[in-house]
Amino acid sequence: MNVYYQSTRGGGEKVTASKAILMGLAEDGGLFVPDHLPKLDRSLEELAAEDYQECAYDVMKLLLTDYSEEELKECIAKAYDSKFDTPEIAPMAEAEGAYYLELFHGKTIAFKDMALSILPHLMITAARKNKDERTIVILTATSGDTGKAALAGFADVPGTKIIVFYPKDGVSPIQKRQMITQTGSNTCVIGVDGNFDDCQTEVKRIFTDEAENRKLNGNGYRFSSANSINIGRLVPQIVYYVYAYTRLVREGRIKAGDPVNFCVPTGNFGNILAAYYAGQMGIPVHKLICASNSNRVLYDFFTTGTYDRNRRFVLTMSPSMDILVSSNLERLIYHIAGDDAGKNAELMKELSAEGKYSITPEMREKLRIFTGGYASEEDTADAIRSLYEDTGYVIDPHTAVARHVYQQYAKESGDKTPTVIASTASPFKFETSVLRSLGQPAEGDDLALADALSRIANVPVPEAVESLRGAAVRHTKVTDRAGMEREVSAFLGI
Ligand SMILES: *Cc1c(COP(=O)(O)O)cnc(C)c1O
Repeated sequence: MNVYYQSTRGGGEKVTASKAILMGLAEDGGLFVPDHLPKLDRSLEELAAEDYQECAYDVMKLLLTDYSEEELKECIAKAYDSKFDTPEIAPMAEAEGAYYLELFHGKTIAFKDMALSILPHLMITAARKNKDERTIVILTATSGDTGKAALAGFADVPGTKIIVFYPKDGVSPIQKRQMITQTGSNTCVIGVDGNFDDCQTEVKRIFTDEAENRKLNGNGYRFSSANSINIGRLVPQIVYYVYAYTRLVREGRIKAGDPVNFCVPTGNFGNILAAYYAGQMGIPVHKLICASNSNRVLYDFFTTGTYDRNRRFVLTMSPSMDILVSSNLERLIYHIAGDDAGKNAELMKELSAEGKYSITPEMREKLRIFTGGYASEEDTADAIRSLYEDTGYVIDPHTAVARHVYQQYAKESGDKTPTVIASTASPFKFETSVLRSLGQPAEGDDLALADALSRIANVPVPEAVESLRGAAVRHTKVTDRAGMEREVSAFLGI
């Protein structure tokens, strides 16, 4: 049975998966959601015998129903290959009885690689299927992680160009180095004299500007979006939850059918929503543990039923979770309202007008599978240090937030269900915070710190960091907000 995608706010037509991937966002500003969630059509035992690529096909074919077998298998083969530094793609490490699902073995050593390695291939296939011959132009503003993962994914993919704007003084040294050394003749990276919000606001404006879009069309281009609300990013994330579960079955750690918990360090709510979808598709899930840092808007939502963004924004050592409006939560709201677009649209209107909304008791009832927790900066540092002292295993600050929240949950609930913690970044990506948490000196340049961390953690410096040594700087342009549109036109030669 085919799956179609419709807006969480009810506007527009139902579209195919490939159309939804090309469009990114629905025309009424809502997010695309599947009209139903199919059940896995292979048994958990059968899935347990598969490798990552085979599992990816068996999950994604159910949701991307207008892609042919050949198309989907080709996208998967191009994405999950030697770009990952382990053939397992998403290996698991056991520490203190919990399973750390390492989602950081891709090119930019953060979990966004899991989806952004395949999105470019899904997108150009979608353009071909929809007979759109224009070159796809990805326009992105980044606070660090997304930009590099999108660059790495789209670099040298025929039929695409990518332009990334980053706040010139607002990203970490490693993140900046990663971006300005990006190779690929279709890539463009520009520093902006301003903060992330300036970049983001101007990108959104250019994206929807009529004159700019006309100019683009006239020259054989179209804009598209690689950000986390694209279902082409969500669907590939369901795969690793299915894979993790079936891995535990294969290794005899659980029996097929036994429940597990997933604990996920959460920002925009994309990763944990994928775990929820995996559960709806047939993976036995007991609890989804949503871990927040000091920006604990989701913790408050799960404990009170009120989402309230009116609060101070806190900068933490887990910056990819420093978010007050989790865009993907809108999909969950739509589902717990009984796939009611009218109810969801009403709440989203309240959110944009007043910065908050409350859900009904019936909706709260449907949230029972979720539980929330949060970690302060001190809790986060403690989690890194104590895990290292107990086991020698070093985790990054985002994963540390999840470890703290999981331990607290286990203590308070007494729940002994086997638990998989999503490990979303390599500690090498946030080496200053990690070294400080371990009580180690963190002076010196980013590459020297990588060597220090390598000695302490007893793991080699990942290739993604190693390859930065001596890498030529290819992108030096800096502009102010007013100059961003001009840079887009200049790069495209229009
Ligand atoms: C993006 C990111 C997150 C948050 O994921 P969401 O899908 O936005 O909830 C967590 N950790 C790291 C390292 C990230 O890059």
